[in-house]
Amino acid sequence: MVEAKGIYHRYDKKGKDVLIDINFMINRGEFVFFVGPSGAGKSTLFKMIIREIIPREGYLKVFGHDLSGMRQSRVPYLRRNIGMVFQDFRLLDERTTAENIAFAMRVTGASQREIRRRVPYVLELVGLREKAAARVCDLSGGEQQRVGLARAIINRPAMIIADEPTGNLDPDNSYEIMNILRTINIRGTTVLVATHNSEIVDRLKKRVIHLNQGRLTVDEEKGAYASVL
Ligand code: ADP
Repeated sequence: MVEAKGIYHRYDKKGKDVLIDINFMINRGEFVFFVGPSGAGKSTLFKMIIREIIPREGYLKVFGHDLSGMRQSRVPYLRRNIGMVFQDFRLLDERTTAENIAFAMRVTGASQREIRRRVPYVLELVGLREKAAARVCDLSGGEQQRVGLARAIINRPAMIIADEPTGNLDPDNSYEIMNILRTINIRGTTVLVATHNSEIVDRLKKRVIHLNQGRLTVDEEKGAYASVL
């Protein structure tokens, strides 16, 4: 589903390398944590997967397509299959929970009927049924991130990419968000999460890929945040 081979990247021609010889393969249905200190290259890698950035060397295949050679006109199709979750939520604050989610469906051309059928189902999944009509700005941080998750999955993407999804949340809400991601994964969606939340990584015992100063240092099944090298 995601295959990285010999990826090198630097932002500026003469700048430092931010990714160095990155190799990994992620199969459909996996749940993978990306961990490592700030600046390790996690966000850069995620931006490559949605083809915001093209690696200077090496190749990255997503859903079987080499992204370097992908025509710009195909990029929206790629992104339609990837749900994004952000640390800072990025919601329409003045709109309601339901409107935020419906909006993400509407932009793909979904009919009103499909929207009416699917939104309640997804709200139920993230535990926000009671908050459908509440404005996002009146929700707690944990609830806002659940809206973010609902929006990410509303169009049934094959993969979710969450970049520090619990970075602004307390431990209880963080755990809740990771639990929903786990449920989404169990229902068949591939999930990639960049996080600093060592407690949750250790508790969930999923595959962990460590990056450090642009290098992939550890890739282990049922890994831990602070792996012994
Ligand atoms: P992480 O997500 O692990 O914190 P990033 O991928 O954001 O790491 O950053 C990796 C490195 O790339 C850092 O040294 C960062 O300063 C650098 N970097 C990130 N974005 C840019 C950019 N747009 N221009 C130049 N350097 C960047």
